[in-house]
Amino acid sequence: MMRRMNIPHYKERLEAEKAKLEAGMGNVGRKNPRVPGDYEPVGSETGVEADTIDQALTITSFENNEGILRDLEARYDAVLAALARIEKGTYGLCSVCGGKIEKARLDADPAAATCTAHRG
Ligand SMILES: [Zn+2]
Repeated sequence: MMRRMNIPHYKERLEAEKAKLEAGMGNVGRKNPRVPGDYEPVGSETGVEADTIDQALTITSFENNEGILRDLEARYDAVLAALARIEKGTYGLCSVCGGKIEKARLDADPAAATCTAHRG
């Protein structure tokens, strides 16, 4: 007998993570005005005229931010996709085999899109 999934619980966790990711992306990037929902990295602002070292530091920081931003965006996409699956009624089903995703796996990662056997 199958136990009913506590979807509101996962939805709450996903919504909370979504808000946290949005705050994080707002920290290292700014919203891309051309692509809704996309963020582009920003360099650190020193408020002083940048000399060569400052420029190098800004570039390093920009590249770091870009890496962080890419990670945040990838996670953000996964969270949005999971929320979309809740709306469609397919949440908790493996995107590969269509079987139920294990509860322990969803507890560990509410945005999981595949069962343990099909995790990337
Ligand atoms: Zn599967």
